[in-house]
Amino acid sequence: MAIEISSSGKSIQTTCPYCGVGCGIDVDASSFSLVGSVAHPANFGRLCVKGTHLLETISPEGRLLEPAINGQTASWDEATSLVALKLHQTIARYGPDSVAFYVSGQLLTEDYYVANKLMKGFLGSANIDTNSRLCMSSAVAGYKRAFGADSVPCSYEDLEKTELLVLIGSNAAWTHPVLFQRMEQAKKCNPAMKVVVIDPRQTASTAQSDLNLHIKSGTDTILFNGLLNYLRQNEAVDECFILKNTDFADAAFDAAKSYSPEKVSAMCDIEYEKVICFFELFARSASAISFYSMGINQSISGVDNANAIINCHLATGKIGKLGSGPFSITGQPNAMGGREVGGLANMLAAHMDIENKQHNALVERFWLAENMVKTNGLKAVDMFEKLHKGDIKFIWIMATNPVVSMPNRQKIEEALLACDTVVVSDTVSQNDTLKFANIVLPATGWSEKDGTVTNSERRISRQRAIFAPTGQARHDWQIICDVAAKMGYQKSFEYSNVSDIFAEHAQLTAFENNGERDLDLSGLANLSKRQYEELQPIQWPVNKANPNGTARMFTDNKFFTDNRKAKFIPIIPQPVEQIACKEFPLVLNTGRVRDHWHTMTRTGNVARLHQHTGQAELSIHPTDADILCLNDGDLVSLRAQHSQLPVILPITILKTQRKGELFAPIHWSKTWSSHVNITSLFTDANDEISGQPELKHAAVKIIKTAVKAQGSLFVREPLPELLLNEICDYWVKIKLENGYQYHIALLHPCETLSVRKASAQITLDDWYTQITTHFMQGSEVQTLASDVQLISVTINQDALATLFYIYINNENTYNDDPRVVMDANWINMLLGKDLICVSDIRDLLRNQPDEEFTKGKLICSCFGVREKTINGMISQGYNTVENLGKQLNCGTNCGSCKSELSTLISQHNEIDQSDTWAHTAHNSSNNSESNREVTTGYRQDKAVLNAKQKSSIDIQPKSTAELIKVTQIEMPK
Ligand code: SF4
Repeated sequence: MAIEISSSGKSIQTTCPYCGVGCGIDVDASSFSLVGSVAHPANFGRLCVKGTHLLETISPEGRLLEPAINGQTASWDEATSLVALKLHQTIARYGPDSVAFYVSGQLLTEDYYVANKLMKGFLGSANIDTNSRLCMSSAVAGYKRAFGADSVPCSYEDLEKTELLVLIGSNAAWTHPVLFQRMEQAKKCNPAMKVVVIDPRQTASTAQSDLNLHIKSGTDTILFNGLLNYLRQNEAVDECFILKNTDFADAAFDAAKSYSPEKVSAMCDIEYEKVICFFELFARSASAISFYSMGINQSISGVDNANAIINCHLATGKIGKLGSGPFSITGQPNAMGGREVGGLANMLAAHMDIENKQHNALVERFWLAENMVKTNGLKAVDMFEKLHKGDIKFIWIMATNPVVSMPNRQKIEEALLACDTVVVSDTVSQNDTLKFANIVLPATGWSEKDGTVTNSERRISRQRAIFAPTGQARHDWQIICDVAAKMGYQKSFEYSNVSDIFAEHAQLTAFENNGERDLDLSGLANLSKRQYEELQPIQWPVNKANPNGTARMFTDNKFFTDNRKAKFIPIIPQPVEQIACKEFPLVLNTGRVRDHWHTMTRTGNVARLHQHTGQAELSIHPTDADILCLNDGDLVSLRAQHSQLPVILPITILKTQRKGELFAPIHWSKTWSSHVNITSLFTDANDEISGQPELKHAAVKIIKTAVKAQGSLFVREPLPELLLNEICDYWVKIKLENGYQYHIALLHPCETLSVRKASAQITLDDWYTQITTHFMQGSEVQTLASDVQLISVTINQDALATLFYIYINNENTYNDDPRVVMDANWINMLLGKDLICVSDIRDLLRNQPDEEFTKGKLICSCFGVREKTINGMISQGYNTVENLGKQLNCGTNCGSCKSELSTLISQHNEIDQSDTWAHTAHNSSNNSESNREVTTGYRQDKAVLNAKQKSSIDIQPKSTAELIKVTQIEMPK
């Protein structure tokens, strides 16, 4: 079915800009609404919570509206002329390798194409790398080693048609939700299909799986070497396929031969029976998909991880067939498009190689390149290393936020600070990287951009403009072409429309190809502007043989190596870089939360997307928490050996963690918090082939943060960072519909070593005065206070203006109770009222919310359905996801919460069988708990927590007269 593209201007078909699933979206600009494109083959109408709320991200608030030079507004001509001049001068003085571009998987293919062409064909350097280096460069290198080309073999359809689906290092339920829903649906339709999840953590993706292998972090190559060995030992290999279509199988089998199931069980720290079960499933299934993502890629063994998986597919011939193959899923919307045009420093355009003389000469001729680069450039980590050393004097950062996303934050900041010229093109006016820019250039964002993206299954889709650019924003390709023209390369960068760029890119893929290169868009090389406008989603290669695109690669068992045979790679497992030791005994893993994206520059604008996970929390196993005397919600400081930057965040105690392993989300930055810079805990360590940094494994220690006092501050407008740093030592910002919530804390002086400005001894009164002096001038303030805690409400023109609650911790123990916890949704509702009444104020001061605000954690963001409501329904017998949806609507829109609904149902079922679990729990061992035991423990923890919170928030004064100071305070003007 073709997607309808409205010419009436009513509905515009485009593509979601978040993840590599690449869902189609139909936007009705007139009603400012959107739905999933029913005909788009990636999602067939489905959207996850992020996609569903995309239009809420569109706002001039926070946008970068005009170019600026050294903080002063400039015209486009001034800004691009200066960029061209600086490039020219730097190259003339220090050579072409003294300049660099750091680009992004958020760019469209056409933007990427011209950036790469300018750098590699005209500036004469290959120092252009992309944040996709952090995402999937190990997968690229793995495919290239095995297949001779960066060819993703599979289609999403294969996920539905397989007998065995293995999710490795991927929490797809949260990171690629629409694909996960397709998998869930497939399993429902075919219960015989088996799903195995391999991940150190128990995640939302494990809810429906048949087998979970919670392996020790960093042991993937051991597991897959073990599988390869098992396949060989148990005559489960396809000898005929190996003989005819592959090389070096014996070397790979040799390297794997010592990895017996017993050894795998011991080294990966999982039960032997589970190891055998997985190996048998893989051996006996006629088809299998290995679905892998960041858990595999973000490792110093990332490429080996990928090849260890691919080896098993080659050994069994499970490739190039329906429902079979090693399937790397990209994190970003256009990581694949970037790969296609050579956005990585070690690739040329059109899947060609810089250091391949034939490829290099071909591209040089095609581009009529004036300064064709001959050698590979610097990969991201090395690029910033050279910047730090002062060898790179000019960097142009486009559509990415490396200060937050790159490892070793301190070094990245130092490098940017020391660099002569930092140019940043972005859509937002504030992020952690923009602070270092000399020249800022406003770029168009999703809904304004026009071009193409490629998703994880090689499907090219159009991203279409819906609205006019905001302010003076321009498309990235236009900015780059302007600079190129000002450097004297106008003829080679003269495109009248984005479709011209796409045509040139497609023609290059076809140029002297003769079937030797996998990426062939010859079928799209001569599209008219109109045909380009109307381009339907299509999977490459698109050529004479496959004019409608290609669902599956290698169906003829021919690969893109010299002899057309795939290559086995012998894998020797390597240890991780930061090994846990006595001083740094815990292992930190990182990843995404369900409703946020990257560094929150887009999702941060949507209050609804803050509700599922309001702030970064550090997940820790109860045993580790006990050893460290930590309670849920305690603020802790994380330290790594190389980093002096303290990372402070609250803990959440979960049995879903392995003992000794922690997990923290990646999204929060200095824009959203004072001390959550997770990537500062990671070193420059990266895979020596792919250059992908190890962002899933850091050795850390936890220090309980000495908190003097803490609380929350609710305001209508965001507060400047400077002011926040003045009134507290620690803060985290959460966006609400009608304002902002700030978690704030004062730290004990003993934290001065770790925190820039820790408070000296302070009383509740001191802090109260400090806050009210800053925020409440000229307002009516009402306060309820005891010796240790205080709630204060400010009324301005009869509406709630601010509210804060603070409490002092006990003198002798840090972070001690009592704690006030006020419901943010309740206060948000009151912030939205024009008129606040006396009873509202009384309820606020006594922390007695309306009943609807006591329903626990938000589970369904689309319909605002909370945990206790859902549990109530489950207790009444509505114990399927479908029935809950019928009763409460939860899970019936985007479906992102379905896995959590399943978890709540399982937890409920487990309560009914408590005797059975008690017995099982008694017999369980370290990290080998069954799901049942894990979820039971989690529930019990939550129950304890809820009870604890309840008792601490019921701060009934002994007598109103004695303790309540409901006062009218006139603040100094
Ligand atoms: Fe966007 Fe969600 Fe689809 Fe990813 S799964 S492309 S975030 S709608």
